[in-house]
Parts: sequence; C-alpha cells; structure tokens
Amino acid sequence: MDVKLGHNPSFVWRSIHASQVVVRGGLRWRVGDGSRIRVWYDPWIKDGGRSHVTTAIHMGKEGLVVRDLIDLNGKLWREDEVKAMFNERDAKNILVMPLIDEVSADKKFWQFTTHENYNLKSAYHYIKEHLVDNGEWRKEGSWTKLWRLKIPQKVKVFLWRATRDCLPTRCRLQTCGVHCSDRCVHCNNSSFENDWHVFFGCEKLEPVWSAAGLWNIIRESLEIADGFISLFFQLLDFLQHEQLLRK
Ligand SMILES: [Zn+2]
Repeated sequence: MDVKLGHNPSFVWRSIHASQVVVRGGLRWRVGDGSRIRVWYDPWIKDGGRSHVTTAIHMGKEGLVVRDLIDLNGKLWREDEVKAMFNERDAKNILVMPLIDEVSADKKFWQFTTHENYNLKSAYHYIKEHLVDNGEWRKEGSWTKLWRLKIPQKVKVFLWRATRDCLPTRCRLQTCGVHCSDRCVHCNNSSFENDWHVFFGCEKLEPVWSAAGLWNIIRESLEIADGFISLFFQLLDFLQHEQLLRK
C-alpha cells in the first residue's frame, strides 16, 4: 500500500500506483485489541466513509494506539477518557463501536461492501461519492417521478437524456463539431434548435401540447420558467395530480 512510484514509471505501473489511493481510502480497521491501530493517523471510525478522527492530536499523545482507550479486563471502552479526549463526533462514533471479547486481532477490511471484500462496483461508488467533486453533475428535480411515469421505458430514457443535456439537438451537434445548421427546420429556420426550442419554444408545438391537454399549463409557465429543465419538472409535478404516475 505504501510502495513508491520510482523515477521512470511505466503507464501500467503509474495506473496501479494511482489506484492505491482508492483502495487505501476505502480501507478501515476493525478493532480487536487495538494494539496495531494508531488513533490519530489510521482509519478506524465508522462514519460513512470518513474514517479518521477529527479531533486535533493531543500534544505528548502522538503515539496513542486504540488499545490505550480500551479496558481490556472487561473489553470495554474507557468512556470517561474517550469523552474527555475527543470531540463530540469522534467520541460518539468510538463509543458505539462494539468490542467483541473473542476478537483480539485488529484487521483491515474494505468498508464499502457488505461482505467486506473489495470489488470494482463499490470502488466506483466510493470514487464518485468521496474522491470526485461531482456537485456539477447533480441536477435538482423530481427524478423518482420521472422513472415512475406510466410510459414506455424508452420514452423515459429519452426524457432522462433530455434533462441530462444529452439530446443531439442541432445546437449541441454544432458544439460537438458536426457541420450542420443550428436552426430549427420546423419554423423556417428562424430559431436555434436547442432543448428549450425542441420541447417548448417552437411555434409548431402548440397543437401537440394542446392535444395532450398540457398547453394551458405550459403557456402560463413559458414566461416565468427558469429554463428547460425547470419547466420539465414543473410539468411532472402537474402530472402527479393527474394520476399519471405508477404507485
Ligand atoms: Zn422551431
């Protein structure tokens, strides 16, 4: 886990070396007698992937191991010491950890699967949630409602792609380097064909939405809607009232 990269690493070795960050980040100690676990430096707290204590290191106690916090006669946490030494979050997480009499060896395990063995799926989840700042990929909206619509699966996927900015509108195709016009063919090339135009903006859409009984709601929202996705989810909220969703 702590091997060095070296002076002239190959691509494969660089990749393996980089993956250590993931594996190391997902490991946590299970407390046995606590003798191998360094209190301040090792991952041993159970708190949704944040496994290190957050209390500042106590001067003179840098070498503290978890064993020092356990009364080994009865295999119990030294509760008063733990509460005095750690902040509230750490103390709470330490004291709820069970100390099993029969378990004496400290053991490292992969903490993101129920069976404690490393697998790729859980590593991917760990990277996504803990290592990568994925805030920009998240979009607000009633996503569960979208998947509960009583419509064919392929239409749901189409709508999902639309809300994730994945539809090949002419504007998007141009951005991706495709040589084509960015204008809508349905309204005589007078407007850009972007997501908003394809679903709500094009003048040719009124009879379509009217036939679906939704034009009145859309018309009211056109001026005030905060973009395509916002109006899309507003419509979904309306559909729930109309009992168009699966339970
Ligand atoms: Zn148009």
